[in-house]
Amino acid sequence: MNIILFGPPGAGKGTQAQHIVKNYKYFQISTGDLLRNEIKKKTTLGEDIEKIISKGEFVSDSVVNILLKNAIKNLKFKDKIIFDGYPRNLLQVENLKKNLIEFKQNIGAIIFLNVTSDIIEKRIMGRVTCERCNMTLNKYLNPKEIESHPCGRGFLKKRKDDGSEIAIYRYDTYMEKTKPVLDFYSNGPDFHEIDGSLEIQVIKGKIEQILKV
Ligand code: AMP
Repeated sequence: MNIILFGPPGAGKGTQAQHIVKNYKYFQISTGDLLRNEIKKKTTLGEDIEKIISKGEFVSDSVVNILLKNAIKNLKFKDKIIFDGYPRNLLQVENLKKNLIEFKQNIGAIIFLNVTSDIIEKRIMGRVTCERCNMTLNKYLNPKEIESHPCGRGFLKKRKDDGSEIAIYRYDTYMEKTKPVLDFYSNGPDFHEIDGSLEIQVIKGKIEQILKV
């Protein structure tokens, strides 16, 4: 079954997705990562995307939907996808539904990591990503992991959109624009809300319970 990991930026989706990928052989499809890959290619599209992301705004549905479709139609990922950062509005919900039907797949669990803005601020401000292995670490929450990171500290970089003001703007935008998505899914039987301020290990345990069913 495919999974949607839902929650504002900094809710811990990346950390939990890494755990599911490693232990359940899933594939994390993060639209944020796919967009950042486009930026790295230095195409005109990549430049346009960079301008939007650096302001903390949403990239157009048409661009994101194409990237998403390419992931869903890839047979290697079939029924083993963690959707991270998608869908973010009701048009994307519709698009996801259409693609799942076309490629004969479904969503087995929607996991919402719920966190307040003060916790998010701390998490986002401390977050660094390894340019080599793509792992996300946190200077404030897990300083030891930074010291012992196998790729070395030189590859650890802060994301451009992780400054304090942009971070709060991204949180507010996310909560405002994705509220209808949350309302849409929260009435269904496969919806699970987890308190995202709990210890990482506790959240892992709760997710494992959901995946065992
Ligand atoms: P994330 O890595 O999920 O925090 O996403 C980083 C940025 O990429 C967001 O602030 C948006 O600008 C853009 N983005 C990611 N996913 C989407 C999406 N599904 N729809 C529109 N924009 C997105």
